[in-house]
Amino acid sequence: MPGFELFGEAERKEVQDVLNSGVLMRYGFDNQRQGHWKAKAMELEICQQLNVKHAQLLSSGTAALTSALVVAGIGAGDEVIVPAFTFVASFEAVLMVGATPVLVDIDDTLTMSPAAVAQAISAKTKAVMPVHMCGSMADMDALKSICKTENLLLIEDACQAIGGTYKGQNLGTIGDLGCFSFDAVKTITCGEGGAVITNNDLFAPLLDQYSDHGHDHLGSNRGTDGHPILGYNFRISELNAAVGLAQARRLPEFLRHQKHYYHILKTALARIPEIEFRRVPEGGEESYAFLNFFLPTEEQTKAAMLLFADQGIGECFHYLDNNWHYVRQWDHLKWGNALNNLNEAQKIGLALIGRQNFQRSDAFLGRNISCLIKLGMTSTEVEQRAELMATLIGKVV
Ligand SMILES: *Cc1c(COP(=O)(O)O)cnc(C)c1O
Repeated sequence: MPGFELFGEAERKEVQDVLNSGVLMRYGFDNQRQGHWKAKAMELEICQQLNVKHAQLLSSGTAALTSALVVAGIGAGDEVIVPAFTFVASFEAVLMVGATPVLVDIDDTLTMSPAAVAQAISAKTKAVMPVHMCGSMADMDALKSICKTENLLLIEDACQAIGGTYKGQNLGTIGDLGCFSFDAVKTITCGEGGAVITNNDLFAPLLDQYSDHGHDHLGSNRGTDGHPILGYNFRISELNAAVGLAQARRLPEFLRHQKHYYHILKTALARIPEIEFRRVPEGGEESYAFLNFFLPTEEQTKAAMLLFADQGIGECFHYLDNNWHYVRQWDHLKWGNALNNLNEAQKIGLALIGRQNFQRSDAFLGRNISCLIKLGMTSTEVEQRAELMATLIGKVV
């Protein structure tokens, strides 16, 4: 997945343009910027590549999730359904806007189970936020249909799955709003950055205003801009956007690499009959950022992970007891360890999570190994890694 492994001349040139003009701000300074608009250019590149009308580049993926919730009108008293296997940013963004996160189980796709979503809906539910973990998607038709029937917004967290598709549509463009992260370890990186994409013409200007203190960006003088709404500062700098612009142009190249390496790994592991691969919903194509598979038991999975560590096979994850990605270790969430006051609905919601049973997710994650597809390796190195992994797994199953 990580684009940082392939930095080169293109990234350096874009950054140098920004340093040469000295304009680090994405808005204004029209005369000094020598024609360079890196954030705008990256937004255009994303729109063209993902076939979507609007993209708003922001300072992080977490800022993207937060802004998506805000422009969708979600706030205090509202509930947002998120999966129990994700990254902490999912519930952080929901809490930030004053809403209450409701966690649900995953299924064999390793993403949110539509059946669990249907059960979790209450009169306060406003949005469903599937997270396309490790490069692949949830059953989007089922989620879309639930959202339509129940009149809920569908907000996709596609931070780990840029370039994946579902029935011909790019991930992030299926729901009302889609979010990406371009942090240091994502498929394409700005260093720090993120984006919200949408085909909704009403959300687009709100994203632009909200992320820059409510500026309407109508005139040519920031000082006299109007402020139709209360906003915040989630702007990205031109330096970060410059790196991301070069990386976004290289997305097709990165995806080709990922797919090639993924298939080398999958072919080697498919020889082991005990291995079962993650289910990709019909009509879906992964971004190939990770290869995910299940061993028959949790014990075998833990034993394989120990052998991997012993033999220097890095960047493979067993997420069951991971601090950042799965509810089991989120005591800070269950206990509501916030520095400032949470609202009453949030306090009640978090206490509920503490008493909730996630056995179904435990069962999937207990047997799952998630292997990062590294862009910086050569085909030969990937082949050697694949053979060693197959040999080691062969010893435990
Ligand atoms: C990385 C990531 C985020 C947050 O992105 P940041 O840019 O680090 O704030 C959100 N969701 C998922 C699934 C991620 O992997």
